[in-house]
Amino acid sequence: MPSTIDLHTHSTASDGLLAPGELVAAAAEAGVRVLALTDHDTTGGIEAAAAALRPGMTLVPGAEVSCQMRVADGRVISMHVLAYLFDPAEPAFARLRRRVRDSRVNRAQRMVERLVADGHPVSWERIRERAGGTVGRPHIADALVEAGLAADWDEAFGQAWIGHRGRYWVERYEPDVAEALRLIHGAGGVSVFAHPFGQRGPIVAEVDIETMAGLGLSGIEVGHPDHPPATQERLAGIAADLGLFVTGSSDFHGAREGNGRDALGAFGTDAEVLAAIVERATGDTLRTA
Ligand SMILES: [Zn+2]
Ligand SMILES: [Zn+2]
Repeated sequence: MPSTIDLHTHSTASDGLLAPGELVAAAAEAGVRVLALTDHDTTGGIEAAAAALRPGMTLVPGAEVSCQMRVADGRVISMHVLAYLFDPAEPAFARLRRRVRDSRVNRAQRMVERLVADGHPVSWERIRERAGGTVGRPHIADALVEAGLAADWDEAFGQAWIGHRGRYWVERYEPDVAEALRLIHGAGGVSVFAHPFGQRGPIVAEVDIETMAGLGLSGIEVGHPDHPPATQERLAGIAADLGLFVTGSSDFHGAREGNGRDALGAFGTDAEVLAAIVERATGDTLRTA
């Protein structure tokens, strides 16, 4: 039985495979009644999703915000915070979303520019042409291999080339989590720490979540395809200790064969929690058909 309240999904407005309207239709088919659209650092799909709602469905406008945090053991990690029901026109938070989006687009180009500046035989036009869509590091790695500069992807992603903090690595802009939370709340939004113990990327400690709670974090995404049952239990305990909302969602990015782990409504949120989020938010309202 899929959950009827799914508070974390993506459309083609960011890295999802379905257009906002298609996503809403897929949610309706899956039995999801309340859907949050939370594209990465953009609200670009919200209006199209709202227009596609079917009778009885509700859309929660939102976004998934990229940011970073220096965690208790000293590492700086990238993380995601879900923002719900903020005012999309509030200028400070809108500016932050735009800056993060711009940096994502410009980053690959800046890496190629640095390679060209050092006289390496690669060309942005050719890489972009071959990529067909948004250029990412894999496309640059292909070009390095094709030009005979790197023997294979492993070498291309090494320190001599475009590996993490390697010679031609370009940092992506991510605000500090304190700033992201301040701007979300400043725009009247409610914040939820997305997949805190996800499979990808480093793991934060409980004390780091406590720090975020001190900065006004409202909730933790506990139900998520990356969280096995034991992880969910642990996160639910942390949420209870800190007085945070517990949410659940599919983090759906696109239609997969069958009802896989990323199926819409695979994990859900309790109606009381949704009501509490709506109650706390002052920036925007739920959309209905
Ligand atoms: Zn995420
Ligand atoms: Zn996501």
